[in-house]
Amino acid sequence: MSAPEVTVDEVWGWLGEVADPEIPVISVVDLGIVRDVALRDGECVVTITPTYSGCPAMQVIAESVEEALRAHGLDRVRIVSRLSPAWTTDWMSAAGKAALKGYGIAPPVQQAIDISGLHAGIRRRAAPEVSCPHCGSPHTQLTSEFGSTPCKALYKCLDCREPFDYFKCH
Ligand SMILES: [Zn+2]
Repeated sequence: MSAPEVTVDEVWGWLGEVADPEIPVISVVDLGIVRDVALRDGECVVTITPTYSGCPAMQVIAESVEEALRAHGLDRVRIVSRLSPAWTTDWMSAAGKAALKGYGIAPPVQQAIDISGLHAGIRRRAAPEVSCPHCGSPHTQLTSEFGSTPCKALYKCLDCREPFDYFKCH
């Protein structure tokens, strides 16, 4: 191993520059999908949890991560996909949520872990109250459970009339 010593912190820093392919303003770190970084015997192992199982962007994310680390001189990179525990929007950083809003996507408003879910069989959970990312109005309406990607729902603002994507809680 003749390459200069690389620290785990440096790798986290580099990963912070890897953008999510669906939402280019948010990094994979701010999105909260990078679970672990380990350096073992000259190999860099990055553990990633998909935002939801079968998310088509995952392959692209794995490739971008590998490419970014190679560009920093790490030639042995392994991406490990971990499905459990499942990703929740709670893992998204505050910076990530702010970037999402700046991009015109309403960030998740609920804590994903919802105790009322215990009674899920009895009553359906109401659609969350989402503020319009354009004008801030709380008067919004769910128009479709599925937005531009399956991870998002489509909303419409009743005040400024703009449609917008809402990043769904999982
Ligand atoms: Zn609005």
